[in-house]
Amino acid sequence: MNSGHPDCPHRCFYINFGEHLQNSWNVNLLYPDAPNQWSDADWTSFLTMIKAFGFTCFEYWIAPTLFDHGALRHEPLYAGFASALRRVTDLAHGLGLQTKYILAPNVLGPRWFHACPNDPQQKKWIVDLWRHWIEQLPATDIVSIFPGDVGGCNRNGCTHETFIDLCLELTDIMRSVNPTVCTEINTWGTPFAGWGSDLRSVPDWDGSYEMITDPKYATPGSDNYEFNGKPDRAKAAMDYLLKRLPAFPAETMVAINLGFSPLGDADRGGDARPYAREIAKIRRITSWDYYLCEGELVTYPHWRLPRIAARRREERSAAPYHGGTCYTMTPKLNLLTFYAAGQLFINPDADPDQISREFCANVFGPEHAILGELFEAFEISAALGMGFSARRHWSKQVLRQKYAEMIEHLEAADVSGCSLPLFPDPETYRQDLLWFARKFMEMAGPNPDRLRIEKEYWAKSVAIYDHIPMSVDQRAHTAAKNFSMVLAQAEP
Ligand SMILES: [Zn+2]
Repeated sequence: MNSGHPDCPHRCFYINFGEHLQNSWNVNLLYPDAPNQWSDADWTSFLTMIKAFGFTCFEYWIAPTLFDHGALRHEPLYAGFASALRRVTDLAHGLGLQTKYILAPNVLGPRWFHACPNDPQQKKWIVDLWRHWIEQLPATDIVSIFPGDVGGCNRNGCTHETFIDLCLELTDIMRSVNPTVCTEINTWGTPFAGWGSDLRSVPDWDGSYEMITDPKYATPGSDNYEFNGKPDRAKAAMDYLLKRLPAFPAETMVAINLGFSPLGDADRGGDARPYAREIAKIRRITSWDYYLCEGELVTYPHWRLPRIAARRREERSAAPYHGGTCYTMTPKLNLLTFYAAGQLFINPDADPDQISREFCANVFGPEHAILGELFEAFEISAALGMGFSARRHWSKQVLRQKYAEMIEHLEAADVSGCSLPLFPDPETYRQDLLWFARKFMEMAGPNPDRLRIEKEYWAKSVAIYDHIPMSVDQRAHTAAKNFSMVLAQAEP
């Protein structure tokens, strides 16, 4: 296992524990009366694991539920979150890890209200809440100012320039509280998703998420309410960012992917590489490649290792990247991905298949190293979520054979000799992988009981929604349904 690399020192591990991504393998910091909360011992085990895997920074999202007026009144939910993250920050610092939070400046509350910076009252909410969170989390090393998804505004003349100007103002506010905090300007999306013409034009929009996403306002050819920016808008936005960047502190970082799209592709806002090179001349650049390692929606054991390796090599070739991010919504499940992502930041030339076998040998014993290539058989269905990436196609017959081998090895493995510090413990991890292997096996076979599997997935993964409000986009139901439909299509 490799643990150092001078060219890519900012190796970030990002948990998205937003209200719409709660599940059994995620941490619940938003609902004090519901399950999936982590103790300090849990956090220590988790941070020890990501440090061992090669990461240097723990990143999290202050979700809109927390960016709300109740925070200013120090109501228990908000005060409890702040207290928990102060402890986590201390634990991370104790292990030599940095901490970073990301925050969209204008999305307030669990209903995702989009406040307008050009409205004086709503601007005050933004500034007050922004100041509140840096005061509550004063030891934070890096704050990433996130444009949209969700977030953004096109009311009252707001454009991408409004967002960039707001970033500078918020940076000044943060540095008045914590003079050493580092700003990261995240260009996420097309770029600066949600600002100005990137956002759908809705007459008399009231700032509500419901109204901006109402299908009746969709324009032909684009059903997205955001991510509508084209290359000419990207150029205007980047020109303005480059003009304004010298006013930001010298250590400011800019998160810019290889392409202005969620997947780093060049099919929306265009190719970002020329801009990444220009920005890198004056400020450090990072990659925030969200769906590279894992998707949203269905929770399952991902296997996107070759693409992670390829992307790191692309970045190395394109521009002098200072680091990047490995995203997850399943910090207690996708341990193989985390190990590979950490190691591939350090050595982009490493062989992802070899890393996969090496991880499995370390966890399950050398005689089960083959699991490292069998787990590729989980990455087989686009219906499971965003950013799906399969290296090969499989017939159901071959998949059944792979799942049978996987189950055989997982049942036989003795994890008492696991040489990596895992969270959760290796036996829990083994049992979870077995659960998925058995479900995939069943769905690759004849006449699976998909209604039962849907219920079993709900109980295994998203039962927390029996205890907490359904998210605005109600995706937990879709996740359970989609999981139960794996390999439902005709035999290839
Ligand atoms: Zn506005």
